[in-house]
Amino acid sequence: MSDDSKNVPRTVSVLVPTPSPVPYTYALPDGVSADPGAIVQVPLGPRQVAGIVWEVGDNGNDIDPAKLRPVTTVFDCPTLTPDMRRFIAWVSRYTLSAPGMVARMVLRAPAAFEPEAPVAGLALTDERPQRMTSARERVVALAAESSPMAWTRSGLAHAAGVSLSVVDGLAAAGTFEAVTLPPTAIVAPPDPNHGPPDLHDSQARAAEALTGDIQADRFAATLLEGVTGAGKTEVYFEAIAAAVSAGRQVLVMLPEIALTQAFIDRFEARFGAPPAPWHSDLPPKTREKVWRQVAEGSVEVVAGARSALFLPFADLGLVIVDEEHDAAYKQEDRVYYNARDMAVVRAKLADCPVVLVSATPSVETRHNALEGRYRHLRLDRRHADAALPDVALVDMRQNPPARGGFLSPVLLDAMAQTLEKQEQSLLFLNRRGYAPLTLCRVCGHRFACENCSAWLVEHRFRGQLQCHHCGHHEPVPEACPECGTFDHLVACGPGIERIAEETLTHFPDARVIVLSSDMAGGVKRLRLEMEAIAKGEADIIIGTQLVAKGHNFPLLTLVGVVDADLGLANGDPRAAERTFQLLSQVTGRAGRTGRQSLGLIQTFQPDHAVLKACASGDAEAFYAAQLAERERGRMPPFGRLAAVIVSATNRPDAEAHGRALRAAAPSSSDITVLGPAEAPLAMVRGRHRFRLLVHGSERADMQAYLRAMIATAPNPRGSVRVAVDVDPQSFL
Ligand SMILES: [Zn+2]
Ligand SMILES: [Zn+2]
Repeated sequence: MSDDSKNVPRTVSVLVPTPSPVPYTYALPDGVSADPGAIVQVPLGPRQVAGIVWEVGDNGNDIDPAKLRPVTTVFDCPTLTPDMRRFIAWVSRYTLSAPGMVARMVLRAPAAFEPEAPVAGLALTDERPQRMTSARERVVALAAESSPMAWTRSGLAHAAGVSLSVVDGLAAAGTFEAVTLPPTAIVAPPDPNHGPPDLHDSQARAAEALTGDIQADRFAATLLEGVTGAGKTEVYFEAIAAAVSAGRQVLVMLPEIALTQAFIDRFEARFGAPPAPWHSDLPPKTREKVWRQVAEGSVEVVAGARSALFLPFADLGLVIVDEEHDAAYKQEDRVYYNARDMAVVRAKLADCPVVLVSATPSVETRHNALEGRYRHLRLDRRHADAALPDVALVDMRQNPPARGGFLSPVLLDAMAQTLEKQEQSLLFLNRRGYAPLTLCRVCGHRFACENCSAWLVEHRFRGQLQCHHCGHHEPVPEACPECGTFDHLVACGPGIERIAEETLTHFPDARVIVLSSDMAGGVKRLRLEMEAIAKGEADIIIGTQLVAKGHNFPLLTLVGVVDADLGLANGDPRAAERTFQLLSQVTGRAGRTGRQSLGLIQTFQPDHAVLKACASGDAEAFYAAQLAERERGRMPPFGRLAAVIVSATNRPDAEAHGRALRAAAPSSSDITVLGPAEAPLAMVRGRHRFRLLVHGSERADMQAYLRAMIATAPNPRGSVRVAVDVDPQSFL
């Protein structure tokens, strides 16, 4: 070995998709080098897996490379930027997830690590064929005009209106030579000057502040708040235009991207091209192209769901989180993270601006804005001539529905008037299916899921009983499985299918559409139905929280909330906030084009502070009351929470490990542990669940505490699994 090669590191540490808390070390074969952030293939047990080079060299550990397994391949792929690597480390530390499991979220496009195959093309030479036909002349003339652009063989034949053999003949005669074309771009570059907006005063001021941040080119966090229809999107589009003009990449995060064709259309109208999409429903080929082109820096704007945070941007210059309060940003699987919070961290590490956008911001974000940690930009005026709907509470004790029904006379009257005006009504109920519980009238048997502690929900359209937690379903039986009586099963409580049935008994000639995420036909059918509604092809829309997302229905002038008490009843500390956000959004659906509109909220507790705030539209009062309540209870953002969820295939094991964790909890003056308690959802997918809740002061080091607790407790054995959920959103 020469002195020279001694200085070249022969080992690398690699993040591989395992629960190991540290990277694994591999040898670098002779002549192969890899930088930190390089994507490699390495052996892991009997498999080959993709991983991320974490560090180069063995940090003086003096490991003999001959005793290590070698790196199989260093992919011909841009290395991850230092800020992306810091982000992986940060998410791992914060969520207490193995760094390899975070890396796994970055590497979810395996075929993208090798360069895209170049496309074969033809370019015109100076050579002309001896025999010229009119067809050949057309081809040569076309290619000469477009020179120096190269053509694909079929593209040229098609454009010139000749057969492929004419093109082949010219190529054989040397008139065209074979060249390689770069792979096609997944989307055309956005043009910041394509469709400049006409901004009203408060929009223009907000846009100016945001474009100023882009020019300043460093981290800045902003809350952009404005009621539905105030024109928030136009404002942040200006920030995107500024970033694109500066040659930077932009990440726009949206909840449930698959359903927001309306957003893509608006983007295209502003920039002349759609953004690159990123979500779980993308076809693998598209996914790989987007990943690769984001890594290469050729894609300028990505609009994606929460997992887009882990795309390997080459030069991230702006992050937008639209509907920042949306619960869909929380992932509760393997790595538990809140994509909204992580987006702020991502921007901070990339030293670029981040904009959180909402009509009903989360209490935490509102608090950060009040405290001056985020700049607060507000759009107070509703765009164009749209008016906010009048919202009223319907006291169900005084306006009871007809026997067996769920719609009060007040709501039915308003629906009849809306039908008469040929406008649309929306009935909102956040409960899929026909009825949340089915029981036997004779013996009282209740249909429960065999895998979960949950009742089966009747889906009458499909003739099924379904579990909404594990997906288990069975046909609705003709006879009770317990007592054998025929035709005595009764539905308890309403689901949207039952509301649809009730609606049709009152308005048999109305065109009714039921919108739910689980209807047959999936996303495609939903999109078609949304379009049909926007075109006025329905009179009454009945839907779950899906309808609260940013769809624009111009004819919608009445929104009825069937059961506003539903969300307030489940003992979740965030229930009030969620209900306020959901009801504000739902009622905000009405009257977006200036028609007189109305929101009616059915409730048995019209004195509840949250519902009163919804009716009066007094968001300030709502936030002030919520913040005061959270401060009293030292709840977030005035304190910190983490949940530890222990599950096992049998109850005693889950409970015993929960107790062992509790016993292992260090004593601390500013952190307390509650539990273990059996989870409200005591069994999911056949696993019994216990929860511990760790409650700390604002300054408590929750991660260090949790790490110590888990390290001190015995290792989980058998089927026992431990999941840590820092900043939990769900308490089930
Ligand atoms: Zn029975
Ligand atoms: Zn189930």
